[in-house]
Amino acid sequence: MANLKWKTPRSKTRSRRAANWKLSAVTTVQCPQCHQPKRPHFACPTCGTYNGRTVVEVRDERAGQE
Ligand SMILES: [Zn+2]
Repeated sequence: MANLKWKTPRSKTRSRRAANWKLSAVTTVQCPQCHQPKRPHFACPTCGTYNGRTVVEVRDERAGQE
């Protein structure tokens, strides 16, 4: 039998929806340049290349604080 919308508390609706939230890990592929894991269709965060050419400059972490 169908549930009455007005009888279902908002907290129950929200907690049911929250249970399905962010269950999968981020997909990674291996970078063809440096063989580090990177996200598909993203420039590599390690070497800064995409499709065989450099597209972004990779800064040393916490080093570029000018
Ligand atoms: Zn790379």
